Amino acid sequence: MCGIIGYIGSKNAVPIIVNGLKKLEYRGYDSAGVAVNNNGEFCAVKKRGRLTELEQALKKTPIKGNIGIGHTRWATHGEPSDINSHPHLSEFNTIAVVHNGIIENYKELKAKLEKLGVKFSSQTDSEVVAQLAEYYKTKFGGSLLDIVSRVAQALEGSFALGIMAKDNPNTLIAIKKDNPLIIGVGKDGNFIASDVPAVLEHTKSVYYLADKEIAVIKKDSIEFFTLEKEPINKEVSLIEWDASESEKGGYQHFMLKEMLEQPKILQATIKHAKQRLSQKEVLDKLDIKQYTKIVITACGSAYNAGFVAKYVLEDLARIPVEIELASEFRYKNPIVDDKTLVILISQSGETADTIAAMREAKSKGATTLGVVNVVGSCIATESDVCIYTLAGPEIAVATTKAYSAQLVVMYLLAIKFASDLGVIDEKTIKALENDVNSIPDLVDVTIKSTIDTIAKYSALCIGYSSIFFIGRNIDYAVALEGSLKLKEISYIHSEAYAGGELKHGTISLIEDGTLVVAIASNPRLFPKIMSNVEQVMTRGAKVFSIETSLVNESDRIQHKDLFRIKTHSINELFSPSLSVIILQLFSYFVAANKGLDIDKPRNLAKSVTVE
Ligand code: GLU
Repeated sequence: MCGIIGYIGSKNAVPIIVNGLKKLEYRGYDSAGVAVNNNGEFCAVKKRGRLTELEQALKKTPIKGNIGIGHTRWATHGEPSDINSHPHLSEFNTIAVVHNGIIENYKELKAKLEKLGVKFSSQTDSEVVAQLAEYYKTKFGGSLLDIVSRVAQALEGSFALGIMAKDNPNTLIAIKKDNPLIIGVGKDGNFIASDVPAVLEHTKSVYYLADKEIAVIKKDSIEFFTLEKEPINKEVSLIEWDASESEKGGYQHFMLKEMLEQPKILQATIKHAKQRLSQKEVLDKLDIKQYTKIVITACGSAYNAGFVAKYVLEDLARIPVEIELASEFRYKNPIVDDKTLVILISQSGETADTIAAMREAKSKGATTLGVVNVVGSCIATESDVCIYTLAGPEIAVATTKAYSAQLVVMYLLAIKFASDLGVIDEKTIKALENDVNSIPDLVDVTIKSTIDTIAKYSALCIGYSSIFFIGRNIDYAVALEGSLKLKEISYIHSEAYAGGELKHGTISLIEDGTLVVAIASNPRLFPKIMSNVEQVMTRGAKVFSIETSLVNESDRIQHKDLFRIKTHSINELFSPSLSVIILQLFSYFVAANKGLDIDKPRNLAKSVTVE
């Protein structure tokens, strides 16, 4: 996973590329580089480290040209270094390439080329693309399209590529397989990019490149071809996002901005999901009576959202739901067939493991539903039916608003299935719908009423080396997300446990001064989780509890080592939407108080488009 941007037009490509890379830095940030073709000469500047390093280097060695490609890297093959940074140039500087993905047969190709005398300069898999292109160019000649078509047919693995040839300063080529790439149509030139925000300040008109399609991009034209060089027609799409949505807008971090946007984006997502769930095409595919079970598969926070959804779907619709990590599902010969609905949840719609899980499910005859944020992404277009979360661009690596939006889509789906299966009466369905409608306002109230207290309390929690999250039933599902969020951005070790499991092992880790975050939003299970709280406090733990307001004050534990936040009353099935807000704010302020790089945590990238 990395960010690619390219430009061809009448302006200097360098500032356009550097600005675009800033918008893509969330995808990878261990090195960055830019290459331009200046009147038949390639000039490249590449730097290990953050984009600011590249900017400094460009100040010392300014370059310019009307065509260029840039890259922000998340290394898979070869350590982050100046040499391993992209763009990669071929041995004789005739071809320049940026690559997102993994060339799985690079060793084989590299060995063949080395035998032919080609000299490699980096340890990356990506360099092989540039070297192979140069080799084919010398051996077979032909246009850049001919060369790229030949190269792409020799590659195995996943790739999004931007390619330039030194002797052809009028053409930029893009091709993709299993990694995202869009083509932006501008007034003073055209663009390629891994993601929409990179081009949003220049254009809202984009083409979504499909797998194995080649785009031949010139200053004032864009043509598309199959891998076999047959011309194809594609339709341009208009982006509804506003450029300001991918700006920080005065906030210290994107994560804070995105958490605070949640009431607004939840409202939009609820409206959209309801519309989708009333459309005939969607209704036909999602006719729940055809299915004997549902399988939800996803990665990271999207998996955690699916975990919440399993509780809600089973409780309301009384249909069996399995939840599987996409990285496991794809390799396990899963038991799915044409009577299974497989739900793929992914913010980017480009998560490599989730894409593979989708394809595996489809090959076994299952119907696939994508719950996706990025319009036109792979899962959005390849799944049998897609419901978008309207979270807008999410830039912070740790997801907040997209996770919350995934939850509300899944709640509405559960209500719809319950209604279609006739397992809940109409009056209750109406009440459940009203509960979901109230979520955006309740999220707003939760943020406003807790943010200052959480900020203060979090400052006291930065010294813990390990934090445990516990909850029962749906609160356990939220605990998983709270724990993940904390470790992602604060680097504090944390684990989530089902409250009842503590005594089966984990309690041995509890000692004086351990912090336990207990989620208790279910009045029915409140006494049970409070027993767990007593058990850990007896062993010296301090507790931060998130408690429902729907219990008597006398049932609460009063103890100096317990810090409590009460949540607003809400149907317990939808309580994750409120508890997670508190957990997100907690993680954020712990990380902020530790002075960490919240939007770009170490070793992580936003969309995991490689295995
Ligand atoms: N595999 C390539 C590398 O390690 C590209 C990684 C990426 O997608 O950022 O350079």
